[in-house]
Amino acid sequence: DEQTSEKLVELAKRRGYFFQSSGAYGGVGGFYTFGPQGASLKGNVEDAWRDRFAVAEGNMEIDAPTIMPEPVFEASGHLETFDDMLVECPECGESHRADHVVEDNTEYEDAESLPIPEVEEVIAEYELVCPSCGTGLAGQAVETFNLMFATNIGPGDSDPGYLRPETAQGIFVEFPRLKEYARNQLPFGVTQIGRAYRNEISPRRSIIRTREFTQAELEYFVDPEEDEPDLESVEDVEVTLYPASEQHSEGGDELETTIGEAVEDGIVGDEWVAYFLGIAKPWYESIGVDMDRFRFRQHLSGERSHYAADCWDAESEIDGNWIELAGFANRTDYDLSKHDEYSDDRFTIFKQYDEPKTVERATVDPDMSYLGPEFGGAAQDVVDALETLAERDRSAFESDVVEIELEGEGGGENEAETHEIPVEKAGFSVDEETIAGEHITPHVIEPSFGVDRVIYTVLHHAYREDEVDGEERTYLALEPEVAPTFVGVFPLQSDDDLESVADEIVSDLRKLGLSATYDDSGNIGRRYRRQDEVGTPFCVTVDYETIENEETTVTVRERDTTDQKRLPVEDLAETLAEIRDG
Ligand code: ATP
Repeated sequence: DEQTSEKLVELAKRRGYFFQSSGAYGGVGGFYTFGPQGASLKGNVEDAWRDRFAVAEGNMEIDAPTIMPEPVFEASGHLETFDDMLVECPECGESHRADHVVEDNTEYEDAESLPIPEVEEVIAEYELVCPSCGTGLAGQAVETFNLMFATNIGPGDSDPGYLRPETAQGIFVEFPRLKEYARNQLPFGVTQIGRAYRNEISPRRSIIRTREFTQAELEYFVDPEEDEPDLESVEDVEVTLYPASEQHSEGGDELETTIGEAVEDGIVGDEWVAYFLGIAKPWYESIGVDMDRFRFRQHLSGERSHYAADCWDAESEIDGNWIELAGFANRTDYDLSKHDEYSDDRFTIFKQYDEPKTVERATVDPDMSYLGPEFGGAAQDVVDALETLAERDRSAFESDVVEIELEGEGGGENEAETHEIPVEKAGFSVDEETIAGEHITPHVIEPSFGVDRVIYTVLHHAYREDEVDGEERTYLALEPEVAPTFVGVFPLQSDDDLESVADEIVSDLRKLGLSATYDDSGNIGRRYRRQDEVGTPFCVTVDYETIENEETTVTVRERDTTDQKRLPVEDLAETLAEIRDG
């Protein structure tokens, strides 16, 4: 039903879930404010994520700045490659994502991976038009557009910085310290929940594609040769998978399987990725994502990020479209190697062998005094070149002279020059050495969740319309665990006695950590409708029976069924707390 999103966005604004920011100044695309209900729902979803992916897994949580200096993004590759394709309308001047224009209007499903000239050709061939004004886009240049927001750190422009486009880099950059907290033992995981910023060319579909959003990311560092996930704990988890092979083949379909079988059949090739899919699926279910509208889709080869070896997305269905909720990627040693190369810090871990190993090591004499200027180049260059050669090719030292190549000194030309070094001068020897371990660069598996998109999905999948007592009703069937308000408490009528009992009930509920709201305005039916629309699972009404009978009881109404029951006030708070905690 194409309408649900429209109705939801309207409800979200009216009831304080979310709305476009800075409305007083006309609003600006891609920025949303979570209102009182939305902020509370978001907090609950983040807590649920933290419980599952940080606490229950024994991972560490950190909280890094959102602005980072330029060298971080030089190393990470974002400065160079974090681009989308942009096409500008010659008539109205609006910019659009060229790949979206192509995907929305042709049979191409993965236009992001096409080279720019090909995208331009497709635009011309299909006579694609500007989505805003309908003017033809054929012949318009498609350009790359870097999505990072740039800023300056301090006065002047000598220290450029960027608002982070993903929370992940804040974890990678601190790896040299984080590994100490993990006592230099792999595997270990670090999580972060925080804001990320992308200057999206065309923000759209309310909070699904914004320019400032919240991510919940886990970076799980492993020794690729030794560490294995606990697949047994997730092998029976049932999943709907949409592998790349099925997407490629005509009439290809989703597969219903289990994590265990998917690994056995080689459908999910990476066991670590499979493990995290296995814990993500029940988590999404627990917070209220409809499992009939949820799947994991494998990235097509051209779609993968610059670092990822295998990647799957969690997707939910919204009004007939699949949207990406989270990405699960094996980023291998890409990020840590890059930071190791670009920074002065060390992004490796010392891996101790079970028993010390004896190895042969070929060396040359590091004392440069043997080598006079007649051998050319700086003496250190010569020693370095000899060392490298000794490691790679011992046979080079079997004759009387060894040849090395050094970069020439000839100014800009830099042509390699060959030098002949008498072997006796190189001081070549092969020694045995006992070593306790080696430095390795961990691989990292990344489950990367978008918080805003899961909130949108949870609301959309909870949206219901029915009829109660001959009247149309709209309600949100939110899971009690995440519902922003857990219980509404109403005095039946304006009456001091009823109000004071209701007040007392509210404070008892709050003492147990239940979010309770007091409402005495309007007739009781309207108060129920209000809580239904917000998604409050229970309403408690204090009526005359409550104060007149010997045993004090109240009515408790359940949101979805609208069934009412009388419960003793004594037990009320505890009973509701038990329901909330499952
Ligand atoms: P897309 O292809 O939709 O632009 P992506 O593949 O670039 O997303 P990732 O880099 O994998 O996204 O980011 C991880 C998660 O962050 C996504 O699964 C999504 O939930 C969330 N996310 C990414 N971009 C946005 C955005 N502009 N607005 C809201 N959430 C986003």
